[in-house]
Parts: sequence; C-alpha cells; structure tokens
Amino acid sequence: MTLSLASVLALGVSSVYFASLTKSSAHRLMETGLFQRDLDHPFDELVSTSDSLIFWVYAALMATLLAGVFGFSIMEKLFIRLRDIQHVMLKLADRDVAINVPSLSDVDEIGDMARAVEVFKYNAVQISIQKDELQRISRRFEAALSNMSQGLCMYNVEGRLDIFNLRFCEIYGLRPEDVQAGMSFEDILALIIKSGHDLDRTLDDVVAERLAVVDRREACVSLHEVAGGRVVAMSHCPMQDGGWVATFEDVTARQLAEARVRYLARHDSLTALSNRAVLTERLEQTLTDAARGAGSAVLCLDLDRFKSVNDAHGHGIGDDLLRAVAERLQACVREGDSLARLGGDEFAIVQAAVARPEDAKILAERVVAAMEKPFEISNHQIVIGISIGIALVPEDGTSAMMLLKNADTALYRAKSDGRGNFCFFEAGMNARLQQRRQLELDMRTGLLNHEFELFYQPLVNLERHQVSGFEALLRWHHPERGMVSPSEFIPIAEEIGLIVPLGEWVLRRACAEAATWPHGLKVAVNLSPVQFKSKNLVSIVADCLSKSGLPAHQLELEITETVLLQESDSTLATLHELRALGVRISMDDFGTGYSSLSYLRSFPFDKIKIDQSFIRDLSNREDSIHIVRAVRGLCSGLGMLTTAEGVETEEQLEKLRAESCTEVQGFLLSPPKPASFVLGIVQRVLEGASARGCYPSTVHLNAAE
Ligand code: C2E
Ligand code: CA
Ligand code: CA
Repeated sequence: MTLSLASVLALGVSSVYFASLTKSSAHRLMETGLFQRDLDHPFDELVSTSDSLIFWVYAALMATLLAGVFGFSIMEKLFIRLRDIQHVMLKLADRDVAINVPSLSDVDEIGDMARAVEVFKYNAVQISIQKDELQRISRRFEAALSNMSQGLCMYNVEGRLDIFNLRFCEIYGLRPEDVQAGMSFEDILALIIKSGHDLDRTLDDVVAERLAVVDRREACVSLHEVAGGRVVAMSHCPMQDGGWVATFEDVTARQLAEARVRYLARHDSLTALSNRAVLTERLEQTLTDAARGAGSAVLCLDLDRFKSVNDAHGHGIGDDLLRAVAERLQACVREGDSLARLGGDEFAIVQAAVARPEDAKILAERVVAAMEKPFEISNHQIVIGISIGIALVPEDGTSAMMLLKNADTALYRAKSDGRGNFCFFEAGMNARLQQRRQLELDMRTGLLNHEFELFYQPLVNLERHQVSGFEALLRWHHPERGMVSPSEFIPIAEEIGLIVPLGEWVLRRACAEAATWPHGLKVAVNLSPVQFKSKNLVSIVADCLSKSGLPAHQLELEITETVLLQESDSTLATLHELRALGVRISMDDFGTGYSSLSYLRSFPFDKIKIDQSFIRDLSNREDSIHIVRAVRGLCSGLGMLTTAEGVETEEQLEKLRAESCTEVQGFLLSPPKPASFVLGIVQRVLEGASARGCYPSTVHLNAAE
C-alpha cells in the first residue's frame, strides 16, 4: 500500500513538474516575441487566461497519462507477485506442501502476505503429517480390529454402537449388514436374541441384566452359553467418557479341554472308571462315616495271568480285556459302592454298608465268580482269574492310605495262596510281607554278589551200573540266613521274574562245569515255566552249549507239567526247537500234576522222572508199586527212559531195579553236592558197582569224605 501511494505521489509530482515545465516554456516563447501579448488588453487577458487554462489542462492530462502509464507498470508487477502467491495458496489447498512461497524476503505488503502464507504452509505441512499419522493409526486399528480373535463392540455414553468388528458378528451369527454404527445397545441385544441365542429369556430380561452390568461401571467377565451349545466369555470394561467396551470370545474348545482335563484328573481314560484320587477321597469319606458307626470295606483286586495275555496277544487285546473286566466288575457292585482302576490290572472297590465281614466276603465271591467265565475278545477266548485282598473299615486302618496298603497286603497273601482267591487282612501279615519283600531284594543282590552255587546229585543208570550224569540243583548262600532252600526262593524268583536271569546263570554254569567232566557225563538242568515265556530261551541254550563246548546230547532239560499248561502251542514249538538243538527233554515230578497222558503224546519226551512221593511210599503203600509199574510200562511203550527220584533206602532201590527202572536218584546214592565232589562221586559209584558185581549199592559218600 505504501508502495502504491508513493507511486501515485510520484506520478502527481512528475505531472505537475511537467506542467510547470510547459508553462515556463510558453513564457519563454512569449518573451522571444514569437507570441506577443498585451497583458493589459482584455482579449490578451482572456487569451492569456485560456492559454494558461489549456496549459494546465494539458499539463494535467499529461500528468494523468504519465501517472497512468507509470501506475500501470507498477500495478502489473504487483499483480504478478499476487498471482504467484495465489498459485501457492491454490497448491496448498490441493495439499501440495512441497511448493515454495515466493516474495518471502520482500519488505512490502506482498512480502507480509507471503510470510503469512508461509505460516499457513507450515500449518498445512503439520496437518498433513498428523493426518498421515492418523491414517496410519487408523489402518492399524482397523487391522487389529478385524484380525483379533475376540469380537468387540464399543458403545458411547448414550449406549450407541461406535465401533464393532466382524468377529463379533461371527460369534453371534449376525449378518454384518444388520449391524450398524449408531445402533442402540438394546437393538444389538435384540439382534442377538433374534439370531437364536438366549431363547429361553425375554429381550427385556436380557436388556435389564446387561444394563445392570453397564450401570455398575465395573470391569467384569462372565460366561454365556449361546446357541449350538457354545460358550462365550464376555468381558465388559467401562470407559472414562461414560461409554464401554465389550469383548466376546468363543471359549467352547477351551471349556471342553478344561472339562476333559478335570475329567481325566479323576478318571481312568481306558475304562472310564474312577481313578486312585477319587477312590482315596471316597475312602476318607468312609472313615468319617465309620465314626458315625457305618462300616465299609475296601477290596483290592488284581487280575491273574494278565501279563501273559498282554505278552501273547499284544496290548490292544490286553486293553480290550481290561475294559471288559471293568464292565463285569461294574455289574458286581451295588449303588453306593465305588469302583476304581488303580493302574495296570489293579482295581479297587470301596464297598458301602458293610455290617459284618460276611458282606465283603459275598462281594469278593461274586467278583471271583464273575471272572471265571472266559472273555471273548477279538475272536480270542481268554481265561483269567482275579485275586482279592480285603481290609475292613474302620478295623484295618485309620487312614485311606493305610486301608489301601492293608488291603494290598491281603491281596499279596491271596496271590501266594493260589490265584482266584480272596483274603482278609490280618495283623501280622505286614511283617510277613516285609520279610518276603526283603527276600526279593536279597535275591537280586545275591545274584550280583555271586551268592548262588550249583550242587549236583548223581543220576545212576541201573542197567549199566554207572553214573550217567548229574542234576544241577541251585543253592543260595544267604549272608545272614545261611543256606536257603530252592523250594523257598524259586517260587518267589518266578513271581518277580528274577528266575529268567537266575535260570540263565544256572544254564551257563551247569554247561560250563559239565563240559569239564569225563566219560560223557550228562547234566540235567531244571527249567521254570516262566523261562519258557521269555522269547530267547532257545538262543540262550544254544549259546550256553557253544560257549561251553558241551555236546548238546549231554544236556538234559527238566520241565514240569505246568510248562505245558501254559500256551501249549508256543511251548511245544519251543520244545521242538530245543530238541532240534540236540538236547534231551525230561518230564519232571511226573504224577503230581494233572499227569495227563495227552502231554506224553503231544511231545516225545526222552525221559520221565517219577515223583519222589511215589518212591517214598513204595515200602508202605501197595498202590505205589503199581503206579511205578504203570509209568514204567508207559515209558517203555513210548520209548522213554524212567528215572525214580528220592530213593532213600536199599529196599526202594531193590524194588525199582525189579521194575526195570532205568535210572535212580536219591540220598541213598548221594545227596546233592558241590561241583568239586562230582569226580569223587563217579569214582565211588563205580567202585560200589564193581565191588558188588551187579548194581551200585549204597554209596556212603558223607562217611567216605
Ligand atoms: P526237583 O527238581 O524235583 O529236585 C529234586 C529235589 O529233591 C531236590 O531238592 C533234591 O535235593 C531232592 N532230593 C533228591 N534226593 C532226595 C531224597 O532221596 N529224598 C528227599 N527227600 N529229597 C531228595 P532241592 O535241591 O531242594 O530242590 C527242590 C526243587 O527246587 C527242585 O525239585 C526243583 O524243582 C527246584 N530247583 C532246584 N534247582 C533249580 C534250578 O536250578 N532251577 C529251577 N527252575 N528249579 C530248581
Ligand atoms: Ca528236577
Ligand atoms: Ca523232581
């Protein structure tokens, strides 16, 4: 503005100066006489006046013209600068903040204007940055909202929906187009009910309940069952401005998993019966009830021969059998009783309302009977049994643990009394059990500490009057108890499976020692039925022979009928494999078990050993000689040898010789002796035979040594 005023002023001054210049030039013309005038004459006066007027008009016109031209050029520059600024402003309006503002350093109004525009530009740049940031945040928010696993609804202070995501619609099965921002809380609840949720309640009830939550203005989480049996966890969180955020999560899978975990914590997954934890709780309850006079009983059950079912048929059939057992047990108990599987083939029953021990006995008998019928599992007929130990509440224990332990002790006893049995707990059982457990431990360490030794008892051939071989009999030198009889420790070793390594040790030792004996003397080794169950018996025997160098025909394996009782097909196959190695097989203790003649047909034994009970009775029971004669006849018909065990007297020996018994064995000839006595025994038997010229008479080895 200052600039334009100065321009106009300059124009005026220059015009007046120009006019005055023109006037003085006219005067100077007049003074030269070219334009003479008489100042006193009126015409002259007029002319002079008009001249003067023309002059001033002319001067004014000239000044105006000059001012116009000058002003126009100034204005044009002005417009150009203003246009540049206007261009910048238009660009800024188009959000092009990269443009530079001109005239920033000018000191006139346009410079001021340019600087104002620069400030505007700076603000525009800031707004643009903030807008970009806002858009970025908004995009992230959108992404988070649509990708979160929870449904979300945000309501404003008026209870109208501000924000929601698709997951919310999915969880409640709502159509996204039906849900709009601005809808009221009640409208949304109505939509949810319309979609089939909360059908058992009215909209008013649901609205009232949810509004009560909103009004409390407290954060809370609640579970809701919705359509399709699903469970939704709803969390409500009030906001500062009076609105609130609600999130929704479908927790059906988690709920099911938690329920499953809770179930598994209390149940056996195989049979679906209760587990030990539940049984213990129940037992604790019975102890409380007992204080009020209500008696009960705990029965510990263990399947007989379950391991052999698993070994023979595999774990799948074993599992099916356990399920079938669980079903039969369930049918045996009454309402109020608790049945549980404790693990493996162990079950337990807490029997309620036991007024007298007879009640528990009746249940135990019912259970034993229920197990007697064979099980049909995947086309296999499986016969098992069950043994039961019973402890009475409150007599036999003051805690759940003690009751279970005592019932278990009684079960142990039932098992050792013969399977398919039940037994009540008695005071003193624990001490015996303790002893028995100690023996088990001692036996394991005894094998490692070389406490076992083989004794040998001669087998004397009556026809050839000579020692044909020796039976290896196991001895245990217990560090504290002294010599322990095999009749005491072998059944325990069989039960705990230790007979497998122990029997292998016997085989290796017997073969190694027999390999050093002269005259092709045989060695007879007793095999336990348990050893037949282990898959590698044949390879062990072959290995013992090859390592020791003992010819196979010098090894005799003695088995009892019980071996043939179990899984006869695989046992017979093993026997044939052993025979194929070249070893001899004897039937031991014949006459004490089933003495089934079919066993003699099923496998061609090399020898039958008549049990010592028949020999013992030879002198006082008439029937014994008939039995010996019958067995002898049977053997000669089948091409088998006969050995009479337990010969203690000359009379017995005489009778056996008269019956043409092939071999004898007994204290009369020699008791079992350590390996170092073997050669001496052979010598003495030979001397005895030659001295009498017929058969070896009594060989008093003990006296001779
Ligand atoms: P067994 O196989 O019938 O062995 C004969 C048993 O009768 C031996 O008892 C022996 O000492 C005893 N005996 C021998 N002659 C007479 C006699 O004239 N009168 C009397 N009363 N007894 C006699 P032992 O050594 O105590 O063995 C007992 C049982 O232990 C054996 O009976 C056998 O079944 C088992 N046994 C011994 N050693 C082993 C072994 O290494 N493995 C296996 N699996 N069982 C073995
Ligand atoms: Ca034997
Ligand atoms: Ca025997």
